[in-house]
Amino acid sequence: MSNKRFAIIGAGPMGLMAAVKLLDQGHSVTIYERDDRIGGMSANFDFDGLSIERYYHFICKTDYPLFALLERYGLSKALRWTDTRMGYFYKGKLYKWGNPFALLAFPHLGPISKFRYALHVMYTKGIKDWTALDKEEAGAWIRRWVGQKAYDVMWKDAFRLKFFEFKDNLSASWIGTRIKRVALSRRNLMNESMGYLEGGSMTLLERMVQDIQARGGRIELSRGIDEVVSENGKVTGVSIGGEFTAYDAVISTAPIQYVPALVPGLPADFRDKVAAVQNIPVACVILKLKHAVSENFWMNISDPGIEIPGVIEYSNLNPGHDPDQKILYAPYYMPKTHPKWQQSNAELIEEVLGYLARINPAFKRDWVLASHCHRYEFAQTICPPGFQDMLPSMRTPVQGFFMADTAYYYPEDRSINESINTAQALVDEALR
Ligand SMILES: Cc1cc2nc3c(=O)[nH]c(=O)nc-3n(C[C@H](O)[C@H](O)[C@H](O)COP(=O)(O)OP(=O)(O)OC[C@H]3O[C@@H](n4cnc5c(N)ncnc54)[C@H](O)[C@@H]3O)c2cc1C
Repeated sequence: MSNKRFAIIGAGPMGLMAAVKLLDQGHSVTIYERDDRIGGMSANFDFDGLSIERYYHFICKTDYPLFALLERYGLSKALRWTDTRMGYFYKGKLYKWGNPFALLAFPHLGPISKFRYALHVMYTKGIKDWTALDKEEAGAWIRRWVGQKAYDVMWKDAFRLKFFEFKDNLSASWIGTRIKRVALSRRNLMNESMGYLEGGSMTLLERMVQDIQARGGRIELSRGIDEVVSENGKVTGVSIGGEFTAYDAVISTAPIQYVPALVPGLPADFRDKVAAVQNIPVACVILKLKHAVSENFWMNISDPGIEIPGVIEYSNLNPGHDPDQKILYAPYYMPKTHPKWQQSNAELIEEVLGYLARINPAFKRDWVLASHCHRYEFAQTICPPGFQDMLPSMRTPVQGFFMADTAYYYPEDRSINESINTAQALVDEALR
């Protein structure tokens, strides 16, 4: 195939991986990124002198495409594993979670519910073909396995606080793959084992940038594409601030909700298909604390006084270089229609501090060394039953314009690993 000039929209993991793959095939690429930095949802920020991800990132034992990419760049040694602990803050008390003894000791479920709960996890771990569960509703599927009581205790609040009005209309396969990914990330039956990259996701993403640039690829930051220009149904190039640049093809890795406005040449039925895919934003509080709130990396929460589904004590995964600084993330996933979305970052931070005092009565305000809250508009695609058939094709009706975003991980959950996979599929489609 002759050398083609590609423009890529977005310098997150997917855009960078698409560029790497196109360069491997001998094409030329320019990546346009609207933000002033690479990384998208995986980007770092300066947290009061500490360069750290805006949002928490962990790696699981089954993230094989990610491991292959790390190996390609000689970065396998940057991948670290920690025996992580899980907790469940249920109705005012923190319980250990995440191993059979913790389940046995949990006082709010009877033995039959516990058995059914464990059986469901075991079964889900073994699922290889998710086709049948694509059409099933997640809540009903879980209740069938674990019963109403265990659903109410273990799942109800997690669904309510992460999916709000969408909570009763989610695909079972989409929830099932999350259960499987985490359940398989263990060293043994007793120990969950999660990974992180020394230096964070940026360690990998910056190495990809070096590779792309060394092979003649260009990355233009703070250069959001305004329009993908087409003539007679075929891409001719891109326009930024009224300036046109010619390309043979354009690949978008930006959230697909942006695509209809970016590509005026798309027909109405395709736009409608894109518009039918719904998304919720996240407002994620990050705190730098003098002490850890708990021993857990991941703490699920179901408590009448707490309006978030969990907190992530990142330092219990990645201890960092300063033992006197502990990082904690508290994500508020919520539709923009939720009244809390209108609250200021300062109000959300304040609310989280109140929650921490409830979780650990020893917590004091003077533990807080720094705080921040990031918002990302298209943070989480909502995948209802039958989502596989709802996804618009990567190859669009405008010839030479291809698109994907985190929705195309389906049925898998969001992860950098899945961006790597999806970028490969997107490039295969563009070169087919
Ligand atoms: C709260 C949270 C927790 C997460 N936890 C984990 C985790 O534990 N493990 C894990 O592996 N993953 C995690 N993820 C997911 C991971 O961050 C994403 O899967 C990954 O970053 C997606 O990469 P992407 O390139 O597909 O998309 P994005 O990161 O969304 O990148 C898209 C890029 O497109 C750019 N863009 C948009 N419009 C334009 C335009 N018009 N012109 C140019 N550029 C444009 C955006 O600025 C952005 O940089 C988490 C995400 C969030 C939000």
